[in-house]
Amino acid sequence: MERPFEEFGSKVFSEKEMLERLPSPVYKAWKKTLASEGQLDRPTADAIAHAMKRWAMEHGATHFTHWFQPLNGTTAEKHDAFVEPDGEGEPIARFSGKMLIKGEPDASSFPSGGLRATFEARGYTYWDVTSPAFIKDDVLCIPTVFVSYNGEALDRKEPLLKSLDALSIRATKVCNLLGDDSVKSCDISVGLEQEYFLIDKKYYDQRLDLKLTGRTLFGTSAPKGQELSDHYFGAIPGRVKAYMKEVNEELWKLGVYAKTEHNEVAPAQFELAPVFSGGNIAVDQNLIIMDILKRTAEKHGLACLLHEKPFDGINGSGKHNNYSIVTDNGQNLFDPGKKPEENIRFLTFTCAFIKAVDTYPVLLRLSASSAGNDHRLGANEAPPAIISIYLGSYIEDVLYRVYKSQECCKDAEKKSDFTPVTNISYIPHDNTDRNRTSPVAFTGNKFEFRMLGSSMNASFANTVLSSIMADALQEVVDILSEGKSEEEIRDLAYGYCRKVIKEHNRVLFSGDGYSEEWVKEAERRGLPNVKSFIEATQILKDPSVEKMFTSLGVFTKVELDANRRIMEERYRSIMDIEVRTMLEMTEKDVLPSMEEEYMFYDRAGKDAPSFMKKRKETLYDLIEDTAEGVETLSEKWKKASAVDDQYRSGYEIYYEVVPAMEKLRSFIDQYESIASRKFYTLPMYEQMLFDR
Ligand code: ADP
Ligand code: MG
Repeated sequence: MERPFEEFGSKVFSEKEMLERLPSPVYKAWKKTLASEGQLDRPTADAIAHAMKRWAMEHGATHFTHWFQPLNGTTAEKHDAFVEPDGEGEPIARFSGKMLIKGEPDASSFPSGGLRATFEARGYTYWDVTSPAFIKDDVLCIPTVFVSYNGEALDRKEPLLKSLDALSIRATKVCNLLGDDSVKSCDISVGLEQEYFLIDKKYYDQRLDLKLTGRTLFGTSAPKGQELSDHYFGAIPGRVKAYMKEVNEELWKLGVYAKTEHNEVAPAQFELAPVFSGGNIAVDQNLIIMDILKRTAEKHGLACLLHEKPFDGINGSGKHNNYSIVTDNGQNLFDPGKKPEENIRFLTFTCAFIKAVDTYPVLLRLSASSAGNDHRLGANEAPPAIISIYLGSYIEDVLYRVYKSQECCKDAEKKSDFTPVTNISYIPHDNTDRNRTSPVAFTGNKFEFRMLGSSMNASFANTVLSSIMADALQEVVDILSEGKSEEEIRDLAYGYCRKVIKEHNRVLFSGDGYSEEWVKEAERRGLPNVKSFIEATQILKDPSVEKMFTSLGVFTKVELDANRRIMEERYRSIMDIEVRTMLEMTEKDVLPSMEEEYMFYDRAGKDAPSFMKKRKETLYDLIEDTAEGVETLSEKWKKASAVDDQYRSGYEIYYEVVPAMEKLRSFIDQYESIASRKFYTLPMYEQMLFDR
């Protein structure tokens, strides 16, 4: 192998490493567990733990941790040293199967949405055998799920794994029913593109808002923004290049196939995309990527911003989730092949996907939502909050032909209840599949879900995608099971596809998703347009959503309620921090600068040039407006916080407090655009975005 890749995977306790280090029966037992064909017994676990510890210590690790994904959207770890006293006054390295498999972090302060009363705050972590252990900063990280004493999921990984099981069972059955008995199980393939901003650390350190909230709460556009599009795919500046080199090398060591890197649309914005992998691992790796991006930045005197909207006026950051379903023998079920019309399996899976998306649009919207992403979705830079699918004219034509081939519907176009998809006037006549304004786009052999926020854990989105797909496939299984012969089953599958095309084509849209017309058209079609994250959270109470999740065994009702409460609570906490930070910065940084500058002009006296007199008046007004803005925001905030019901409180924050923040911001931004650098000391956009 070429030198840069020599160390690829050196920090991962990979399958290859296990094969080399484990006695053959142990290795085989582990493989069986991996394929869900057996359970790990104590001696096997001990043997694996022993090999893992030796490997880790050879690579300099001194500690181990159960690495998990609590419900606050991040990752968590509590480090334990391998070292223990041997009873004779000497240190000994110990790591048993029990320590590998189960942990009990004292993690009582993670959100549990009431699943754990504090007197019974116990939560346990359990090894996720399907995701490899790795070393980060001399710590052996063991991916785990985190569950309560009663077995309820307290994390994002456990439901994902359950949804993948639910999907695998049904997708496999459909493959088998359609005549392919070679398929034994299915998984999803996920490729996550990660966008981020890089700015100089010294500016980051000077801005409380960036440090506490991840975004600038005010700041006016630099004289130059992204209008020249000269940053996009442009040459990568030297310091950033060095940073990316180190990021890539770190990621390669961790077994992540970091592949594409390029400048994004906004100045100082970049993207990193690894090669796709199995869903569970792709999500874990994305969390590792975010971590490495942040930590490496510090080493280079940079700050990596993963927030969805660090700067107003230029594009924010997202995370595209490329999604496909693959069989254990390597077939991609969304691969149309050469003759998609005759590829009944492709058609069935694609139609099931269409049905799934059109049945649970708000849930899907929620899975991509957060307080941060509220600034992007529907703001003409990211997909709108309306869920639709872009198939591209090629596949749309295929579906249309499939639909029309039905005898009874020869004159389908005349029927009033059917809008043939090809008649939608917005269809662009090319085949490039590059409609960037669609939230869900078919891109050749996968669906790209483009709504996710850059800072989000991708687990929940993939849990939702896989669950709604499993739900749709369950119906397919039920229908196809009625067939007596291969021929009959095929006919039933075609019948299913026609029905879906007829009943769900409203969700297909190929036009400009950013346009005003689409908002109206979507309303006419009856597609929901939920404005905010906080409003979307209520979909977890919807009886059909509850039924879908519980019948698949992905979430219990109790878990859904807890998740909803945590999301509501989180929204409130995030906004709490934002408002307090904004008030503090206004009081301590902005108003004092304004006042000093005002005094400066005031001192010039009556004979000052008219420009100075005018400037004095402008500043006078801005000080009054800003002070009033502070007051209004404080009042609205107090009122909204006092609302007992979490949801109502969040709702009021979104509709009352957020506009008050925007209003206050507008005065500060007006000031900033005329402020003298002598008086205004906070780093401005032009410095943060263009200083390299
Ligand atoms: P673009 O910016 O055009 O969307 P990128 O190359 O940046 O394309 O990202 C595409 C992502 O999709 C990569 O992570 C890639 O590995 C992933 N991908 C490719 N094929 C599949 C597939 N079959 N299933 C899931 N992800 C895939
Ligand atoms: Mg993309």
